[in-house]
Amino acid sequence: MEDEDECSAHETSVGVNESKEPPKNKMRKLKSSIWRHFKKIGRDKERVEKAMCRGCKKPYRISSTPGPNGKNYGTSHLKRHLTKCKKKVYFREKEKLKQALVKIPNRVCLNSDCWTASTSEEYLCLTAQYIDDNWKVVSKILNFFRMIPPHTGVESAATIYDCFKEWGVDRKVFSIT
Ligand SMILES: [Zn+2]
Repeated sequence: MEDEDECSAHETSVGVNESKEPPKNKMRKLKSSIWRHFKKIGRDKERVEKAMCRGCKKPYRISSTPGPNGKNYGTSHLKRHLTKCKKKVYFREKEKLKQALVKIPNRVCLNSDCWTASTSEEYLCLTAQYIDDNWKVVSKILNFFRMIPPHTGVESAATIYDCFKEWGVDRKVFSIT
C-alpha cells in the first residue's frame, strides 16, 4: 500500500492492541515500538550512545550514563520527537497528495462511507479515486472524521464540501457515492 497510510494504520493497530493486553506486554510493546522508528548508530566522540530517527535522520542521545553495558536508556525524548516527527510527515504527505490531486487532469470520484464504532460513535470516511498517469486506479483516504449527532444530510454535505475545498478538488468532483 501507499506510504502515507502507514502512520495512521500503525497508530490504529497500536491503540487496539493496548487495550486488550495486560500491562506487562504493553510496556514491552511500547519499548520495542520506539526501535522501529529509531536506529542505534553507535557512540559519538564523547562515548554517548546515539540513535537516529528513521523519519528525519536526526541523531539523538539515548544514554545519559554511558556505560559498557549499554543499559539505562532514556526514551521519553525519543517518544516526544516521534510525535512531532509523525505530525510533520503527515502534513508533508498530505501536501504531496493535495498537489497530486490538483495536477491530475481527470475527474476525481469520491466515496463516503459511514462507520459506526463499537461505542456507537459515527465516523465518515472520505476516499478519493482517480486514474493516475499510468492508467491505474488510485484510491486514497482523504479524511476520517467523527460525525457528532444529530447530523442531517445537509450538515453532512456541508462537511464533505468543506473537505473538498480543503483538498482543492471541489471543482473536480465527478461523482460522490
Ligand atoms: Zn524524526
